[in-house]
This record gives sequence, C-alpha cells and structure tokens, in this order.
Amino acid sequence: MPPVFSKETRKVCVRNDGRTGQGRTSPCENKCPLGNPIQKMERAVAEGDPSLALYLLRASNPFPGVTGRVCPHPCEEACNRGQYDEALSIRALERFAADAGAAGLKRLSPLPSSGKKIAVIGSGPAGLSCAYFSALLGHEVTVFEAAPVAGGVPRQAIPDFRLPKDVADRELGLILDLGVRVLTNTEVGRDVSLRELMQRYDACLLAVGSRKERMLNIPDIERALPAVSFLREANLSRGSLAGKKVVILGGGGVAFDCAFTARRLGAARTSLICLELRDAMRVSQAEVEQADDESITLHTGHLAASLECGEGMVRAVTADAVSSFSFDETGTLHAEFVPGRKLRVEADVVICASGLTADLDLLEGEAGVERTPRGCVKTVHCATSLPGLFAAGECAAGPSLVSSAIAEGRAAAFDIHAWLNGEEAGRPLDVWVDEEGRLALERPEAKAVPHEVKFGEIVNIVHHAKASRNNTVNLASRDTWLAFEELDRGLAPEAARAEAERCLHCGHCQACGECVASCPGLILKAGDGAPEVAYPDECWHCGCCRLACPGACVSFKFPLHTFL
Ligand SMILES: Cc1cc2nc3c(=O)[nH]c(=O)nc-3n(C[C@H](O)[C@H](O)[C@H](O)COP(=O)(O)OP(=O)(O)OC[C@H]3O[C@@H](n4cnc5c(N)ncnc54)[C@H](O)[C@@H]3O)c2cc1C
Ligand code: SF4
Ligand code: SF4
Ligand code: SF4
Repeated sequence: MPPVFSKETRKVCVRNDGRTGQGRTSPCENKCPLGNPIQKMERAVAEGDPSLALYLLRASNPFPGVTGRVCPHPCEEACNRGQYDEALSIRALERFAADAGAAGLKRLSPLPSSGKKIAVIGSGPAGLSCAYFSALLGHEVTVFEAAPVAGGVPRQAIPDFRLPKDVADRELGLILDLGVRVLTNTEVGRDVSLRELMQRYDACLLAVGSRKERMLNIPDIERALPAVSFLREANLSRGSLAGKKVVILGGGGVAFDCAFTARRLGAARTSLICLELRDAMRVSQAEVEQADDESITLHTGHLAASLECGEGMVRAVTADAVSSFSFDETGTLHAEFVPGRKLRVEADVVICASGLTADLDLLEGEAGVERTPRGCVKTVHCATSLPGLFAAGECAAGPSLVSSAIAEGRAAAFDIHAWLNGEEAGRPLDVWVDEEGRLALERPEAKAVPHEVKFGEIVNIVHHAKASRNNTVNLASRDTWLAFEELDRGLAPEAARAEAERCLHCGHCQACGECVASCPGLILKAGDGAPEVAYPDECWHCGCCRLACPGACVSFKFPLHTFL
C-alpha cells in the first residue's frame, strides 16, 4: 500500500464523528473540550484574516471571546511545540480572533423553520449553546432565566478583571439575533412549573448549572457570605469593603476570585485559608503570583474550625493545621490534623468558597427524573429518564469548565434534534456549514477515533525554526490601582500573526511539498491541498516522504506489499 496523507478537511466543521477525510489530529484539538478547529483558526490568523478565524470557531463554539479569556487551556498543556521550545498561546489566539474578527464576521443562518418549540431552562454556557445550535437547526427556542441578566456564571459571577461583561454580552447578542428569546427574572419552579413547560414545548433542556452553595459545617458559619452570592452581588452593586479585614475560606478559583474582588472593593486586609499547600494549589501559578502581588495572605494547609463572634459581629476565624486530606466519591472531605497547631485570623467579613451543587428543586414532583450519586441529573445522550426532558452542563456533569458546558449544550442540541425527528439516540453525526452558512447534517457509518500525533512522530522537526512564544500583555494589577479593568490585554496583531505562524500543524497536511521533493521514485505529485500518489504500484515504501514531513501527516497501511 502506498503512503496515506492526512489531508485537512476543507469544510467548516461543527462536529465530525466520522473524521471524514482526516485520519490524524493534534493533541491540542484532541484535548480541547469543544474540539475547536485550532489549526484552521491559527492558519487564518497567520494569513491575516481574524474574521475567517472567528467564523471557523463560531461554527462549533458560540463563545470564543469567553473561552478565549477564561478557559484554563488544556490544549496548551498538550501542545507538541511545548516539547520543542514553548507551547502555542492557543487561548490568546482564540481571544484575538474573537476580538479582532468581530467587525468583519460572516454570520451563520438558521435552517428553515421546523415548527418545533424548545424550552431551555438556564441561560449559562450550556443553555445558550444549546439555544444557538437549536436555532440554527430551525427550531423556535425560548430560554427561561431566573437571574436579572442572561449569561450564567460567566456573565453574573466571573469578575470583570478576568472577563468584561461586554464580551459575554456581544456573544449573547449574536445568539439573540438568531431569534432566540430569553425571559430573564423567570425562575422555573417558582414563576412557571416544569410540567407546564413540558406541556407547552416539544422538548425541554435543563441547564440550571450548580447554584446551591455548600457551606463548611463549622460553628457560626451562617455569619459567612456564600462566595458566588458575594461575587454576583459585587458584579451588580460594587458595594464597598473599605477598611475591612476579609477572610476567604477555600482554595479554588472561586476563592481567589473572591480575594481579588475584595481587594478591589477596598478591603484593608485580605487573607485566604485553604487546605492545599502552596506547591499543590488548585489554581494556576499566575493566580498565586497575582495574590502575592496584591498583598493577599495565603494561609495554606489549614481547615477553618470556627468563626469567632462578639456583639453580633464576626471577629476572627480559627483554623486547624492539616497533615493530609482527601475527598470521597460523594465529595465528603476526610482530613488528618497536626495536633495542637492552630491559626487565628482577624476578620470583619468571612466568605465561604467550599463548592457548589445543583439546585434541582424545580424537579420536585417529577418522580421520574433519576439522579446520580452526587445529586446531578442522570443522562444518557443528554436525555433524562423523563421523555422529552434533556439536561446539559453542570446540573448533569457536576462542576466543570465553561468550555465543557458549551460542548455539552451543543451535544444536547443535536440529541434533541434527533429525538424530535424520531431518530435513534447516540448515532454518529457529522455536521458541516455549507456555502450559505447553514448547517448540513450527514450520518457517517461509524464513529472514528483519529490518531493523535505525538511530538516524537514529527521526524523533520528541524524544518521549523525555533521561536519563542508570544505572550499576551498583562497589566500588573498594581498598575491598575486594583480596579476592575481587565488585566490581560491580549495579543497585538503582529504578535498574534507571529504566534499563529509557530504552529507545527501536527497531523494536518499543509501542502508544503517536502514529501514530493524527497520521494526518490518520483511517484508523488503536488495535488489539490495535499500530495497525490501518482504511481501507486511503484512505491517501494522507503519512507522518505514520512521522514521529510514536518507535520507527521504521512502513514503507511500494513501489511506492506513491496517489489523488493
Ligand atoms: C466564580 C466562578 C468562576 C469560574 N471561573 C471559571 C473559569 O475561569 N473558567 C472556566 O472554564 N470555568 C469557570 N467556572 C465554572 C463555569 O462558570 C461553569 O462550568 C459554567 O458556567 C457552567 O455552565 P452551565 O451553563 O452549566 O451553568 P451556569 O453558568 O451556572 O448557568 C446556569 C443558569 O441557570 C439559571 N438557573 C438556575 N436555576 C434556574 C431555574 N430554576 N429557572 C431558571 N433559571 C435557572 C442560573 O441563574 C444560571 O444563569 C467558574 C465558576 C464560578 C462559580
Ligand atoms: S476552549 Fe480552551 S481548550 Fe479549547 S482551544 Fe480554547 S483555550 Fe484551548
Ligand atoms: S503545534 Fe499547533 S497543531 Fe501541534 S499541538 Fe501545538 S497548536 Fe496544536
Ligand atoms: S511533507 Fe508537506 S505536503 Fe507532504 S504530507 Fe507533510 S505537510 Fe503534506
């Protein structure tokens, strides 16, 4: 068998279960929860076309401006270039495309009306992603949102210094433009019942996130503020904490968001008490450094034991030193303590950031809806045990990431679509965007798992000149006088282009011609976007093309039949 070339699919892709036309992929695309078309996006940026990059991204992700800012970028940790010099700044490029490409963006158009109506409960990333793809599929979508503003946690609780509100609003606006209606201040279970929605709509999606805040089980904890409620309130009203001593209980991203927010609201002293040790924090090193920079004291390796109160006010928090800890499958903490080692931190305000669980009170009376051991909604291909009711995002998967919630909302849209059409659940599906910007659905024969190209497979790595990573410009928080202004200013256009050009395009043929030039038997010729095997019977499997390829796009099928 002559060599097989992994050609990049030219089509604009929404999902590609069958991996039609492309047998190889890169670790970055494999690790992105959304399956973002990272390589195509990077090539468009390298060619100076951020609007095209944005068009490609928005085919599978309606919130690239949000994920381009707050996703913890598992793609970058996996990037092959990290083993050569430095990983690509993929998240920053996604954000660059979302910001720089917005002005010239070509919109997608909905398919003709299906006559079906879908109710989405919750306007977070999962609910709105489902609304976006359902509207593109031609369904009429109404979103019910309990809060006064749409957008879920990213819009309501993630602070502006990480994610400015106008970014989430801009992307929400593009969803509303498709005809999606969002009814805010409308809580399902209070203002309208789930049963009524199930009667009025052809299908319903539960996407209510994790709204219930867990509080530590310690004396006087009721005097502490729940973390996400504090962040939501700070986002809306910016109430002052001038001169206050603020103590945050918790060591995750939410706890750090609370600490940075408290500093910006004028807290005189901000401390954080957490179980984790400094070298094993659950947040990024950048956030730990920001805490140091903003004079936030980290009391690591401790668990709060009680709140000390006097005259109806909080006075201090006492904590025990922890020698080891673990969580069981129900999320319950098991900790061992260092005998006699205690900590006392003075406090006027205490904020408790010890996790979230789904608030599923709206399911009261719906006896048929099964739950998981952790209290989430049990789903199979997004369908709950109640026919016509689907679930996506954190209420089904448990606490996760914005990118995962968007991916789950997208999956739910296609699962609901299949159900409305009476199709069997879970069948593989390819979805493309056609020339008119409309979705085109195809059923591949089977789901295919692409080969993920590892760094060691890129034999001709020296084809790529070494080049350092172009990082985003960051305002040191001191320079902003601890304002809510966004700290990360993104990539400048020249830096974005240079960064995108660093991509090795692992497993996606770029038609560079190296393999054609290296073939001693002259059996290859340059083809349309990838080499073609002009004389297949004359290939003697020397592997020169494979060795010459700078992207590990060439493979051989076994057994080999040679004339040698
Ligand atoms: C403070 C904070 C910071 C975070 N930072 C990051 C980050 O930097 N990066 C990252 O990837 N992830 C982050 N996350 C996690 C991320 O926000 C979630 O994974 C994501 O928002 C989940 O999306 P969702 O759509 O499932 O739920 P949500 O975003 O929670 O949206 C659910 C929506 O449903 C509404 N709702 C609830 N009940 C009802 C009801 N009965 N009727 C009508 N509406 C209802 C809620 O008001 C809400 O708007 C953070 C989470 C928090 C709390
Ligand atoms: S969504 Fe996250 S994982 Fe996916 S490309 Fe963007 S930063 Fe990377
Ligand atoms: S070099 Fe490019 S294609 Fe390869 S893993 Fe990194 S970003 Fe992905
Ligand atoms: S050498 Fe170049 S043209 Fe040949 S398969 Fe690799 S990327 Fe494509």
